[in-house]
Order: sequence, then C-alpha cells, then structure tokens
Amino acid sequence: MADCLFCGIVEGTIPSETVDSDERTVAFMDINPATPGHALVVPRTHSADLMEIATEDLAATTAAARRLARKMKSALDADGINVLNACGAAAWQTVFHFHLHVIPRFEDDPLKLPWIPEEGDREQIAAVAAKLRSDG
Ligand code: 5GP
Ligand code: ZN
Repeated sequence: MADCLFCGIVEGTIPSETVDSDERTVAFMDINPATPGHALVVPRTHSADLMEIATEDLAATTAAARRLARKMKSALDADGINVLNACGAAAWQTVFHFHLHVIPRFEDDPLKLPWIPEEGDREQIAAVAAKLRSDG
C-alpha cells in the first residue's frame, strides 16, 4: 500500500534490520526499542489492524512471533517475552499496518505494567461479560 511505512520495509524500499522472514511475514528490529531486542513481526500483505487482517496472515504472524520469541530466549538469553498488539489509536497504535511487538524481557529490565491491578466490581464484570456473550 502506498505511503505505508511497513509496506516499504517489507518491499525493501525503507531500510530495516530484518531478522527473520518467510512466505507471509517479515520480522525486523523496532527503532525505538523498549528493551534490547524489541522486534516487530508484520504480514507481507497490507492490513491496517487486528480487525482487518486475514486469518491466515494472523496465524502466520503469530507463528513467526513465537519463532522469534524462541530465538530471543536462545540468542539473547531473555528471561521472558511479551507479545503485544495495539489495535486502534485509542489502544496506542501508531503505524496502521498490522504488527506484533515481540519484546524480550530481562529480570532487571525497567518495564512496568501499564495498569495497576485492582479487584473489579463483580456486578460490573458480570454485566460486561453478558454483553460479550450477546449476539449484538
Ligand atoms: P504501534 O505504536 O503502532 O504499536 O507500534 C509502531 C512501532 O513502530 C513503534 O514501536 C515504533 O518505534 C516503530 N517504528 C516507527 N517507525 C519505524 C521505522 O521507521 N522503522 C522501524 N524499524 N520501526 C519503526
Ligand atoms: Zn502496509
């Protein structure tokens, strides 16, 4: 897709540190790494986000993220991995070509959960669950 940054990276017209690729996906380093090793996995075919991506591309991108996660464990000695997707501007998405962040985690790294876990109101949880179970 014209003017898409990640399409440019997939096509090679925009430089990147590519670390893995297959028929459907490309993985490359994030230029603003949350931890050393932070990478992105994208489908070769443009889709804006989780709502749009074809199931086959989602499966391939997820499998590629796991392959990379395993590599981060073996090659970077990561203690853990976060796989993260932002869908929509309200959810922090800034590049509108679907991508999974694969972030190696280390016992002493500075990342923090972006929310403070607190017990929720049981009735509210049940009410929202009912909405999610409904046909609407
Ligand atoms: P989002 O905010 O959409 O979840 O993630 C977009 C990611 O793309 C960000 O983590 C950002 O650092 C990364 N990014 C933005 N521009 C470039 C670029 O030109 N090259 C690379 N490799 N990553 C980029
Ligand atoms: Zn694109």
